[in-house]
Amino acid sequence: MNLHEYQAKNLYRKYDIPTTKGKLLTHPSQLDDILRSVGKNKWVIKAQVHAGGRGKAGGVVLVNSKKEANEEVRRLLGSNLVTHQTNAQGQAVNSIYIEEPCEIKDEIYLAFIVDRTSQRIMIITSSEGGMDIEEVAERFPEKILRNPINPIVGIMPAQCRQICEDLGFDKDLSVQMIDLMKNIYKMFVQKDLSLVEINPLVVTKDNKLICLDGKVVVDNSALYRQPKMNEIRDDSQEDERELKAEKLDLNYVSLDGNIACMVNGAGLAMATMDLIKTHGGEPANFLDVGGSVNEKRVIEAFEIILSDTKVNGILVNIFGGIVRCDIIAAGIIGAAEKMNINIPIVVRLEGTNAKEGLELIKNSNVTVYEEADLDKAALKIIELSNKGAK
Ligand code: GDP
Ligand code: MN
Repeated sequence: MNLHEYQAKNLYRKYDIPTTKGKLLTHPSQLDDILRSVGKNKWVIKAQVHAGGRGKAGGVVLVNSKKEANEEVRRLLGSNLVTHQTNAQGQAVNSIYIEEPCEIKDEIYLAFIVDRTSQRIMIITSSEGGMDIEEVAERFPEKILRNPINPIVGIMPAQCRQICEDLGFDKDLSVQMIDLMKNIYKMFVQKDLSLVEINPLVVTKDNKLICLDGKVVVDNSALYRQPKMNEIRDDSQEDERELKAEKLDLNYVSLDGNIACMVNGAGLAMATMDLIKTHGGEPANFLDVGGSVNEKRVIEAFEIILSDTKVNGILVNIFGGIVRCDIIAAGIIGAAEKMNINIPIVVRLEGTNAKEGLELIKNSNVTVYEEADLDKAALKIIELSNKGAK
């Protein structure tokens, strides 16, 4: 789960992580009050969306008058911001954070991330922070430094000092930086985060460290014990189908292709998507309907799949272990009849009562193609979806 920048900064303040003064605007009528209480005659107007790259896309602007602030707020609020991290549609700007500007001497990159390879929280730093960090990572990878934290002992003074030395910090900055890193680590662990990215972390002209940006991701698997985080989640920034699937307890991830997959088991779902790709197709989603599939669940899954207008073919791949394939087949037939589905469906059933299930489909009135072999099933759905390609 992503936090907005303003939510991240509210969290930083609780952990004594330095930020500038700022206020959230959700309606233009709040502007005058906010401008009066934040700053004097210069402000930074920042669109709140779950995507980076806002600066380059006109989502972060420095304004020099109330008139300019008013114009920028009206331009951004209610619009969709398209950055290199969003899709072509962009993300809805429903709120704007207005901050007091600060005078920047240097822009640093600082991130804490759960690193799967070392199975540790990793501190990533670079002296070349700012809007072009992706380019730095590509062209000068040696300028990106990584320091894993040993979970037994936690963040160590010696490694903090090393990081400060590598960044070329003087004593004054090092003292601030060491405090900052300790506080981020504490927040990271206590709040079950999987990412904190501060880009830029700035050194101001009067030698103070300030977090100008804040990207925070909370580990979804820990949300059950982070109820406060769950409360501040902004559904308007999430994929509509993924949200609906989550409420129904279906594991669903939207993708860009046209062939929808409905599979039981995450491993089988991955293998199914791989196979579609191998044969030249493009999956429209990952969908694991779980072990307890029945007609109701099949209908729910089809509803989510069909609400994606890119989809022009569905591959159902079920391995019947505890579930019986004939019950699944009845569910698919029931769903296809009730929902009047007019795109091709290929069903592959394997395992308990697979034969009976395929027989049911063959003898039904719905146009569902059955195929026992997964390779052939994948080829079939690619062929059929190509024929009817929209
Ligand atoms: P991002 O592009 O989505 O990562 O948004 P950021 O919050 O990082 O803002 C983009 C850029 O705007 C930063 O890299 C800064 O250079 C600039 N910026 C942000 N806040 C301030 C500020 O208070 N003063 C000045 N001068 N520049 C700022
Ligand atoms: Mn940034």
